[in-house]
Amino acid sequence: MIDFHIHTTFSDGTYSPVEVVRMAKEAGLKAFSITDHDTISGLSEAKQEAELLNIDFINGIELSTDYLGKEVHILGYFLNLEDEKLINKLRELKEERDKRALMLIEKLKKYKVEITMEDIMEEVPGDIISRMHVANVLVNKGYVRNKREAFATYLGDSGVAYIPKENLSPEDAVKMIKENGGLAFIAHPKLISIGNEKFKHLVDHLMKFGLDGIEVYYSGFTYLDILYYEKIAAERDLLISGGSDFHGDNREGTKIGENKAPEYIYEKMKEKIEQKSKSI
Ligand code: AMP
Ligand code: MN
Ligand code: MN
Ligand code: MN
Repeated sequence: MIDFHIHTTFSDGTYSPVEVVRMAKEAGLKAFSITDHDTISGLSEAKQEAELLNIDFINGIELSTDYLGKEVHILGYFLNLEDEKLINKLRELKEERDKRALMLIEKLKKYKVEITMEDIMEEVPGDIISRMHVANVLVNKGYVRNKREAFATYLGDSGVAYIPKENLSPEDAVKMIKENGGLAFIAHPKLISIGNEKFKHLVDHLMKFGLDGIEVYYSGFTYLDILYYEKIAAERDLLISGGSDFHGDNREGTKIGENKAPEYIYEKMKEKIEQKSKSI
């Protein structure tokens, strides 16, 4: 089994990269990838630990993008961490998140919710500020009972204090990953709320920019979901991927490896990466 979708303390997960590597080993995985939101900062320490424990580790990322006003997440695998263009873009995305946090604090004040940047930073162990961290502050300060309520009432895209941030477009995200030398996948397709026809259109559109595949195995997807997305991928000769979207205690009930993605997925990805390096 493999798990190609895991978050750490470098974004909005609650376990460090080293802890995640140990958990992946414990789960008996053949290979896994860490895919923090908009950051690659946790990858080198994970790689070191993975080498020690003799488990295959793939550099990954999950980029937030905006498509027709909805969130589309793009996964990147086999990344080159030295790529200046990627590093600079990720710095911009981090600044955008910092700006959004300040705006969010102001907007929450209108609803008599008083939190400070210090409160948020106490929840942020890593590189980037996520709404997940703000949700934790709202729970800790007693403004809401749980994170779900925090998103439904305030932070989610239907919440009163929603602040859209300047996201990449999905095209830009795919282009950036491909120029880096990596593989680009659309994450958790069922969670993209644009309907099936528009989703297929998005897939066809992103293929023009080099999209490699779709995340088909995912925590919470039913057998029928998996078949449905597998067919969309197969009809287009796209690869498939799979992962748990583990966030530790920030997303209860999800375990590393529970997505049950089979190992051949990884073999196919490796083949594609090897072909590419041969053709350069
Ligand atoms: P951000 O990346 O800052 O936009 O924060 C979004 C993160 O919050 C996602 O990566 C999820 O892990 C988490 N989240 C949890 N529940 C929700 C929800 N209902 N709506 C949006 N994000 C959610
Ligand atoms: Mn998250
Ligand atoms: Mn996601
Ligand atoms: Mn994720």
